[in-house]
Amino acid sequence: MKPFIYDYTYDELREWAVAQGEPAFRGGQIFDWLYVKRVNSFEEMTNLSKPLRQKLDEQFAFVTLNEITKFESKDGTVKFLFGLHDDHAIETVIMKHNYGNSICVTTQVGCKVGCTFCASTLGGLKRNLSAGEIVAQVVQAQKILDDRGERVSSIVIMGTGEPFENYDATMNFLRIMIHDKGLNIGQRHITVSTSGIVPNIYRFADEDTQINLAISIHAPNDALRSKLMPVNRRFPFDDVMEALRYYIAKTGRRITFEYALIGGVNDQPEHAEELASVIKDMLCHVNLIPVNHVPERKYVRTSRNDIFQFQRILADKGINVTIRREQGHDIAAACGQLRAKHMESGAR
Ligand code: SAH
Ligand code: SF4
Repeated sequence: MKPFIYDYTYDELREWAVAQGEPAFRGGQIFDWLYVKRVNSFEEMTNLSKPLRQKLDEQFAFVTLNEITKFESKDGTVKFLFGLHDDHAIETVIMKHNYGNSICVTTQVGCKVGCTFCASTLGGLKRNLSAGEIVAQVVQAQKILDDRGERVSSIVIMGTGEPFENYDATMNFLRIMIHDKGLNIGQRHITVSTSGIVPNIYRFADEDTQINLAISIHAPNDALRSKLMPVNRRFPFDDVMEALRYYIAKTGRRITFEYALIGGVNDQPEHAEELASVIKDMLCHVNLIPVNHVPERKYVRTSRNDIFQFQRILADKGINVTIRREQGHDIAAACGQLRAKHMESGAR
């Protein structure tokens, strides 16, 4: 199979052009056709010679995302289930905010991390997505928004999959997204979320970017975190915290802790107290997420009062904390839920 043209960064396309005996700027022209003009074929790249377009066609393919289903929420959130060339299905979400449109992308078909509250991991990991298959989700979303004269203003890597288990593809995806000759998404408007793959937190800290990092922490200590997230046995709580302290010191950037509140499990006042004591000196923000019900799991939601109490305990200790505004709740917009339903019907 031919590699996807969306797999290549701006610099790589320039190198490719030179390798074909063309000036480097031809690579930049290709990048412009892909991300500014957003064409669907090499044929349309009319400022390139016919032989060069033919070479492109011989060597590369476009990613095809087939819309299997689409769910539109009353709040403007649209969730897509896309079929890939090998019939695997992935989810992409467009969320409408008053400041613009945010896209939530998937990085792997399934996930092997095994968090006990997550629908994405129920069928295990099928395969990694290539950089281009992640890019295609944003380009497709942008094409839909083009019809309304709107643009993708932010990206969250919070769909199915663990981005730091597919690190190189995720980084190339990010390089393509932030390039000023392409979609030019502001780095500060992009967030990558990880369950805590420690070696790659260090790597990410050393990448000289302004991209935001979020950590799915979900527990205030090692023992409880191991119960909820088996990955914690591989990369223990204290090692995650040490890596995050390194990241903060190295980048000077604030991190976000994601904390899914699960009724009676991790949502008690003592959990809030313990979390506060662990993170009080860190440059951070806590985002509380009322757990989304996953039919296969027994977890229940924390009551509104208890959510506010949890928030207050953290805030009283000087911690910056918000409760995630829920979007698309009426359309099963939580990570992996749509695909899980699709697989129940016997699909991949
Ligand atoms: N794999 C990455 C990024 C995707 S998940 C990660 O785990 O960080 C985005 C966020 O949704 C994560 O914080 C994840 O832990 C959380 N999440 C997964 N299932 C959930 C559920 N049922 N309810 C609430 N949050 C959930
Ligand atoms: Fe994977 Fe993230 Fe789901 Fe955990 S929460 S199983 S890391 S997708």
